[in-house]
Amino acid sequence: MKVSQILKEDKVTISCEMFPPKQGTMLENYKGIVAEMAKLKPAYLSCTYGATGGTSDYTVEIADAINAHGIPAIAHLTCASSTKEKVDTVINQLKSRGIENILALRGDIPENVDFPLPNQYHHAVELIAQIKQAGDFCIGGACYPEGHPEAATMEEDLIHLKEKVDAGCEYLTTQMFFDNNIYYNFMYKALKKGIDVPVVAGIMPVTNANQVKRIISLSGNLVPSKFINIVDRFGDNPDAMKQAGIAYATEQIIDLIANGANHIHIYSMNKPDVAEAIMNNLSYIYVRG
Ligand code: FAD
Repeated sequence: MKVSQILKEDKVTISCEMFPPKQGTMLENYKGIVAEMAKLKPAYLSCTYGATGGTSDYTVEIADAINAHGIPAIAHLTCASSTKEKVDTVINQLKSRGIENILALRGDIPENVDFPLPNQYHHAVELIAQIKQAGDFCIGGACYPEGHPEAATMEEDLIHLKEKVDAGCEYLTTQMFFDNNIYYNFMYKALKKGIDVPVVAGIMPVTNANQVKRIISLSGNLVPSKFINIVDRFGDNPDAMKQAGIAYATEQIIDLIANGANHIHIYSMNKPDVAEAIMNNLSYIYVRG
């Protein structure tokens, strides 16, 4: 089923995310995680695409396994570390496996290489146009409530975001944020720019203290003092940190839904127990399946 159809319905949806195994890791173990995640009955499950492009086969396999459990699958696809030919090959694999949903991304630019080479797509918008030509896929894209780190201004970032929507992106998923006001402000600005596709709010349950440091260094996210206090107090106690991280994510989600943001994506990162704990906290708010 196409994610655009799911997001059209006037009801709360909760989706989850997985990442594929590293090269040389047992794919079967990851298929076990797919089964665990599928039991939670998320609205859909997405699978990321390795930054180096080397594990692309695994993304296709995992997306296929998700569909086999009767849960709509999204395969992420990046283009910065692949040639156009490689990207076309993956699109054809997805088509032949009946995977209908692609999250089209540029990916991070690999360090110490010339980018883009003539046989590479430069921005996600070009990949979106290519996927649109290649078949009847539902195409999603990424957006950044705090602005993409490379964009000089939010205004510039929103102009390029609108180009992605105009090129055929049917919904957007946000980068994680830890203060809902950032999302609400972003939504206001995006709507003013004419970006009127569904925007799925991406929530990262932070369940260990190291994750916070990594998140800040990688994405430069603003982390509210309320959250820093949790890490300071519980960071050394893994069980308490996990419980507090789940509670924080739950609180964020309840506030979002209460304010009319119906579509939530949990960056559950291969942790079905964390996704399950959040869903249990929302058992009367989100009707599964
Ligand atoms: P783009 O939309 O191409 O934007 C990148 C930058 O270029 C922005 O600053 C934008 O303003 C600018 N820009 C866009 N178009 C133009 C233009 N025409 N001219 C000039 N400037 C332009 N990474 C992975 O490796 N694998 C994944 O599976 C993955 N999944 C993700 C899922 C989500 C929901 C999100 C939010 C991010 C994900 N990422 C993933 C990270 C993503 O690949 C990086 O954030 C990357 O740096 C940008 O990708 P993009 O698709 O947003 O790029």
